[in-house]
Amino acid sequence: MERYILALDQGTTSSRAIIFNKSGGIVSSFQKEFTQIYPKPGWVEHNPLEIWETQVLSARKAIEAASLAPEQIVSVGITNQRETTLIWERASGKPVYNAIVWQCRRSSGLCDRLREKGLESKISKKTGLLLDPYFSGTKIKWLLEHVPNLYERAKKGELCFGTMDTWLLFNLTGGHLTEPSNASRTLLFNIHTGEWDKEILDILDIPREILPEVVPSCGDFGYTEKEIFGKEIRVGGVAGDQQAALFGQACFKTGNAKNTYGTGCFALINTGNQAVASKNRLLTTVAWDLGRGLEYALEGSIFIAGAVVQWLRDKLKILESASDSEKLAASVPDTGGVYFVPAFVGLGAPYWDPDIRGTIVGLTRGTSRAHLTRAALESIAFQSYDLIKALEMDSGQKIEMLKADGGASRNSFLMQFQADILGIPVQLADIAETTALGAAYLAGLSSGYWSSKNEIEKNWKQKSIYSPKLDGRKKDLLISGWRKAVNTARAFK
Ligand code: ADP
Repeated sequence: MERYILALDQGTTSSRAIIFNKSGGIVSSFQKEFTQIYPKPGWVEHNPLEIWETQVLSARKAIEAASLAPEQIVSVGITNQRETTLIWERASGKPVYNAIVWQCRRSSGLCDRLREKGLESKISKKTGLLLDPYFSGTKIKWLLEHVPNLYERAKKGELCFGTMDTWLLFNLTGGHLTEPSNASRTLLFNIHTGEWDKEILDILDIPREILPEVVPSCGDFGYTEKEIFGKEIRVGGVAGDQQAALFGQACFKTGNAKNTYGTGCFALINTGNQAVASKNRLLTTVAWDLGRGLEYALEGSIFIAGAVVQWLRDKLKILESASDSEKLAASVPDTGGVYFVPAFVGLGAPYWDPDIRGTIVGLTRGTSRAHLTRAALESIAFQSYDLIKALEMDSGQKIEMLKADGGASRNSFLMQFQADILGIPVQLADIAETTALGAAYLAGLSSGYWSSKNEIEKNWKQKSIYSPKLDGRKKDLLISGWRKAVNTARAFK
């Protein structure tokens, strides 16, 4: 009887389930989108019941598509959109409010007040994060302040808080658990001690009673209730999406790095057992705990990456599809001196300027949609270059090779330009689903399905590699052009 791992990938727009085999290959998968709720400008919510239902449906459909008996599933792994915050009743399992999504800005006033009180540096030192509504802590505080009786009920132990990993676990197994990679995004977790931080809980006045127990990312999360899959199955691994992708890319060693090219970009570098504090406002985060203590990563993100291609397609209407951008960009030898700074919502690391807006410079009468498209794709690589350099500076590690994944990593022009600008090879994994694969690996490792990280490393197969080809002088010229363009954008505020 062949045996497999089931990975649940609870994302921001859809719930997915993938069945993996021993060589890390995909046997079957299923995906179901769910509703995005926008109650007010800047607010984003999800219906937690819809999340649970779409997730179970996807899992059942993936199992069905592979024609598996439940006995053939050794273990379940979970990965999830991080920071999204939910409170539910412990006894009934009923949510008290919709899930507040990581993108939701409703607690920005609260963050401002904490900053005005001079608390950012203290909180940042303990959690590795910044005071931003992105993280769960101030979302919990918002719920406790705005939903009637919630604070009192929380104090009495009647309520559970959880990010989406915890919500799925609660419904699958009945347990109230999380693990450090997710906990490290809540603003309540001390990444040095590996515990919920009493002082921060006091500052935010969040009752300890609502928090889940933190167990290692690779370990025992209990068994799924029998009626869900027809058999109790062990949940053996859980990690937040970006950390799971780092694991799925087999970035196990200090200095290993990956960049995910999606709507935005997320770059992470493994820093081993060191929680490195950033000087460039990058985040220090827990990568995972394999049962032998916390391991860390530095993380940086770009807000607009693949989204700039969507903008060319949907707003300027100069592209039919995102993938057309590749041929069009390659149809011209260069951008003809055009630079595009896609700061539609400001710039993130290492600039951190929310007030910069998108800027295109260097236009001539000869500028065509091909030049613009090329400049847009190049901007993804330039922004990633800035991010990777910041990761290198902060970590003190030279990144020798970058592993890439995400939707826009399918663009060969972009990947080649990235390698050229960074001056290091960019490697694409054979399996594009690195996030789900990471969760599967964590579950499989703790269940003895895979024997070691070594075995997993051997599973990592390269789809393609892009080696730097551009000569140094040209590269420097391009980068100095990008710098000038960013400075122009800054001057225009
Ligand atoms: P997310 O997980 O953030 O939703 P995906 O990893 O699915 O994103 O990637 C989707 C993004 O990648 C979109 O912004 C899209 O414009 C971009 N994209 C997809 N294919 C290509 C391509 N061939 N070239 C450039 N961009 C692409």
